[in-house]
Amino acid sequence: MAVRVYVGVGSNLGDSGQVVSEACQRVIHLGSEGRTSSLYRTAPRGGPPQPPYCNAVAVFSTAWTPFQVLGLLRRIEAHFGRARRQRWGPRILDLDLLLFGDRIVLHPRLTVPHPRLGERRFVLEPLFELSPDLALPDGRTIRALREAAMDQEVIPW
Ligand code: ATP
Ligand code: MG
Ligand code: MG
Repeated sequence: MAVRVYVGVGSNLGDSGQVVSEACQRVIHLGSEGRTSSLYRTAPRGGPPQPPYCNAVAVFSTAWTPFQVLGLLRRIEAHFGRARRQRWGPRILDLDLLLFGDRIVLHPRLTVPHPRLGERRFVLEPLFELSPDLALPDGRTIRALREAAMDQEVIPW
């Protein structure tokens, strides 16, 4: 059974807009019926002082498992030279598994829905653009979560 998979895409090093556009294309080609949001310029949250981010969300359908998709996302990050250093520090590319249909995954290496999705406008804004009527498995709507996060700075790229 194919499910809709939402992936958060972010970059704040190098040519971020180009990296996010290219990464979105690679992500949607992991499955079928892919769509990508527009690009957003967003203020960093947490971590050290760092440049603004370019963020977007990509969605596609797949019959792979959540861990298989996570592995494929890690490969795309590696293709762009992602190095893991400081937590929440600047990075060339971050690909996070946001939603995997209605699936809930609670594992040390993978939590779905992404645990910080609901409080981050840089994710909620592109999610809302793609699927304004989307809800989390617990029933909370993207529409309501986005309304509550409007104080965070997110503008068109
Ligand atoms: P944040 O999770 O707050 O966005 P981050 O994206 O900077 O932080 P990473 O360094 O990319 O964090 O990943 C840290 C770990 O998170 C990875 O080792 C990965 O196994 C784990 N992880 C858990 N849940 C997810 C998920 N839904 N998507 C991607 N990685 C996840
Ligand atoms: Mg992240
Ligand atoms: Mg990540």
